[in-house]
Amino acid sequence: MPTPTSTDMLHHVHVLTEQIGPRMAGTPANHVAAEYIAGIFRRAGLDVETLPFDCPGWRCDETTLELDGEPLAAAANVPSPACDVLAPTVAVGTIADLDAADITGKIAVLYGDLTREPLIPLNCPIYNTDRDQHINRALLDKQPAAVITINPHLRDVERRIEDVDFTLPSATVPADVGARLVHRAGHPAHLRIAAVTKPSSGAHVLGLRPGPHAARIALMAHFDTKVDTPGAWDNAGGVSALLGLAERLAGRDLACGLEFIAFADEETYSNDHVVYIRERGDRFGSILAAINMDGIAHILGHNTITIMAHSAALKAAIERAVAAFPRVEWVEPWPQSNHSTFAWHGVPAIALSSSVEWSMMRHQPDDTALWISPDQLAEVVDVVEAIVLAIHDRAPAWSRPAPGAAQT
Ligand SMILES: [Zn+2]
Repeated sequence: MPTPTSTDMLHHVHVLTEQIGPRMAGTPANHVAAEYIAGIFRRAGLDVETLPFDCPGWRCDETTLELDGEPLAAAANVPSPACDVLAPTVAVGTIADLDAADITGKIAVLYGDLTREPLIPLNCPIYNTDRDQHINRALLDKQPAAVITINPHLRDVERRIEDVDFTLPSATVPADVGARLVHRAGHPAHLRIAAVTKPSSGAHVLGLRPGPHAARIALMAHFDTKVDTPGAWDNAGGVSALLGLAERLAGRDLACGLEFIAFADEETYSNDHVVYIRERGDRFGSILAAINMDGIAHILGHNTITIMAHSAALKAAIERAVAAFPRVEWVEPWPQSNHSTFAWHGVPAIALSSSVEWSMMRHQPDDTALWISPDQLAEVVDVVEAIVLAIHDRAPAWSRPAPGAAQT
């Protein structure tokens, strides 16, 4: 098997971002991406298994918003029901505003404190706050005809609501549109969302290479995207490194098994976390380490690495391996993305990403291959290979913190 070059890996990025494009869970493109990845896994000699799940198949053909007859930019939240609503607007910027406002049958326009960050879904299985629950429930109780969420950033419609249990029609608008809506609060707005939701599915793709014992290293990246971004940096780059590693490690003699995991739903409905725990949670104990790649190889940054739920010996071994790559920077643990699922279940977890701010990219339509450095993609493959070679002959007990040991 030839060793993958950075050009090959950039090819995977182009296939995922240009030929396949946005690939949110439940969409046909998500299924095509899964097939593509399964094909590369098979070609690398891995046994392919899938972990299927049900999720909404949401499609939105058009979202239009008019205020006093003026068309304004808006994008339906996920997975909003269809609507054609003409109603007065009520602008609310704080929880106290929301609690006091009469929004029933009107269009609630949320800004400020309420939409600084995306609202955590009502039944989010990973994390929730009283504040987010309160906002969601107040809206559902009061039954506005529709909800408009204002993204605080210019030209940015990264959705403020992505929630299967949020049943009201809703859309996100960028800050400049939001300012117009708040200036003219009380004026009637016309929101039209042409969307359909059908039952659909997705599947995580596993590429397995058995070892002599149950012990294995899990390598992972998510291949889905938010609704309308080609997702090059987040996360076609990570997937392409995962595929590069499948080919690279195929020729290596290893003392443990390998489990390559391509997650199909990290971004939208949490079926990465929920389904993996449900289907494979009984085997966490035999994972020596979980290595996640998410947001790697940004052309305007450098690669970073972090580690969670580890023994001192594991960290020392990885530091020695990574020392050969002086551009790779150690950063603080970040409890998001797929490695966290493992760390929260006691599996030592390593994550590779980039030194750029996540907020710089914000799941935008222009997250294209422009932002990916082929050299840094190749660097990630080299780094992860070096880590695998440094730890493959250890036992899972070696990589876990001693009972009672302080966590870093
Ligand atoms: Zn990601």
